[in-house]
Amino acid sequence: VRHRSSVAAKGASIVGVKDIIAVASGKGGVGKSTTAVNLSVALAKACQMKVGLLDADIYGPSIPTMMNLHEKPEVDRDMKMIPIENHGVRCMSIGFLVGKDAPIVWRGPMVMSAIEKLTRGVAWGDLDILVVDMPPGTGDAQLSISQRLQLSGALIVSTPQDIALIDARRGANMFRKVQVPILGVVENMSCFECPNCGTKSYIFGQGGAQRTAEEMDMKFLGEIPLELDIRSSSDEGNPIVVASPHSASAKAYTSVAEKV
Ligand code: ADP
Repeated sequence: VRHRSSVAAKGASIVGVKDIIAVASGKGGVGKSTTAVNLSVALAKACQMKVGLLDADIYGPSIPTMMNLHEKPEVDRDMKMIPIENHGVRCMSIGFLVGKDAPIVWRGPMVMSAIEKLTRGVAWGDLDILVVDMPPGTGDAQLSISQRLQLSGALIVSTPQDIALIDARRGANMFRKVQVPILGVVENMSCFECPNCGTKSYIFGQGGAQRTAEEMDMKFLGEIPLELDIRSSSDEGNPIVVASPHSASAKAYTSVAEKV
């Protein structure tokens, strides 16, 4: 990971944090959080960076489960919350602060004040990179986060399916509007390989994200297969990058991390 000169010039918006990147998707359920988690762990383990992971998916925080973190953060002398660490990544999530089944029914201004608390109200320490798991979509919250955090770049996750790609384009255009560089597109759930017979099935279509990336002049960062182990390791809070570091899918995530 190289620090983008534009960032150095602007200065990161959180003291001690060199770069802040968003992992975004136009649509929910395409694997944005799974990608954010595995990317963060790959950046920490394979790229040996100091990494933070912020769960900004206020209405559907998944980081506590995916990173197997369930305790409440403590506060330091300055009343800043201390991030909770697992797999070499310092994490913060609204999920640490509210009950697991509590509905989060906040309106826009409350969402932004929560984000403010989860970013500048946290003792992140020195970080090479803070990965932000964005809320899905292109609404007010996404725009405010992009602007207030002075993102160094955004990575877009999509499945190859048209309906997801349409929303991915919308997401890319939103970042362009606020002058956030797009780091590239990751195609998730690209292909399913039958564990019994080895047949490959392109359940959500083939090559769609790569075509969209080309059409929109964005880098294509790679494909992640649709795989039972990715889902189960994620549910267990032990991301595939650590659960099975030599698997093809862990290598695919690491390759994305190296390109970011
Ligand atoms: P989003 O953040 O976009 O809503 P998630 O990362 O929460 O999406 O993923 C949605 C569901 O799909 C989760 O159950 C997750 O475990 C599963 N999933 C994501 N990516 C993959 C993949 N490549 N293979 C198998 N399951 C996946």
